[in-house]
Amino acid sequence: MSTVLEFDSVSAGYGPITVVRDVSLRVERGQVVALIGPNGAGKTTTLYTAAGLVPATTGSVSLFDRPTTAPLARRVRDGLAIVTDDRSVFHSLTVRDNLRLGRGKVADVLAAFPELESHLDRRTGLLSGGQQQMLGVGRALAMKPQLLLADEISLGLAPIIVRRLMQSLRTAAETQGTGVLLVEQSARLALEVADYAYVLSHGRVVAEGTGTALLADIGTLESAYLGGLAAAAS
Ligand code: ATP
Repeated sequence: MSTVLEFDSVSAGYGPITVVRDVSLRVERGQVVALIGPNGAGKTTTLYTAAGLVPATTGSVSLFDRPTTAPLARRVRDGLAIVTDDRSVFHSLTVRDNLRLGRGKVADVLAAFPELESHLDRRTGLLSGGQQQMLGVGRALAMKPQLLLADEISLGLAPIIVRRLMQSLRTAAETQGTGVLLVEQSARLALEVADYAYVLSHGRVVAEGTGTALLADIGTLESAYLGGLAAAAS
């Protein structure tokens, strides 16, 4: 197995504020890894550090088996893709034009999300939130990234759509070897699809294990870590 993302004792934050503390984690090729934890635990900051949007202040970040401090654009050229809850689509363009802007094939997006086919000539702003997110995720996956960073892509969407999106990540991992780092508010949904997961609280990894093992112990996790707010900053 090759490692697409590795954090070795990484700390990171915003100016003088440390949010992520001494985090070590790993995503292998073809693996879905979830990052779960309460609000403010530092999940998004961890993902932004992987993307090159927030610098690591201590420790090292390796992408595709090489240590890196490169900015996001360079990481994207090297095989990283990122999707966020804002759907990252152009509302005034048609679905077809949004797909043409991606570096992947339109046919690959439609293979992952056939429900978009009947909307190809509609303005993207007229699609539902779920359809827009399918477009954003489909476009990212069609680039066949080595590493996909997914930040709360299920925010505000119906459970049936969320399961479709999660399944598309699973399929990309299995069929194209994409490594996925999945930040999710819903621990259960994330653990259902994850091979491995890390639980963050106050910016630190407080538990880790296979998705199956953590799901079996979800009651304990919820009462210990996932229940409330965890202000990570100090
Ligand atoms: P949520 O699940 O609510 O999105 P999270 O686990 O993703 O939370 P982060 O968004 O990483 O947590 O935020 C962790 C801490 O960093 C919070 O205390 C937040 O207020 C702080 N923070 C986030 N972005 C910034 C920023 N740009 N400047 C300063 N502090 C920030």
